[in-house]
Amino acid sequence: MICTTIREGEDCVFMTAAGCSYNEGNCLPVVEECMGCQRMSEFPTGMYCAAAPDPSLKWKSGSCNMATHIKTTVETKKQKSIRSRHPKEDNF
Ligand code: SF4
Repeated sequence: MICTTIREGEDCVFMTAAGCSYNEGNCLPVVEECMGCQRMSEFPTGMYCAAAPDPSLKWKSGSCNMATHIKTTVETKKQKSIRSRHPKEDNF
């Protein structure tokens, strides 16, 4: 349903006919760790995340798993396998 509160005009799963159903009835602004993330959007009410209603919770126990501005160091088994078969290609 289309938000009529903080992120007015955006489609949101928390919006209901009775208003915003998220926690205290609205989204919370982005936190410092979010700076640089492409999921942030500016609204007349401030900067908010398009993916999470409370960005601080996404950073509470480590890095946000939806952040676009940080790189993870987790390498899948398949990537390791490909890398080990083509070791010279790592020297670009
Ligand atoms: S996706 Fe994560 S890092 Fe990006 S704005 Fe949302 S909460 Fe912040």
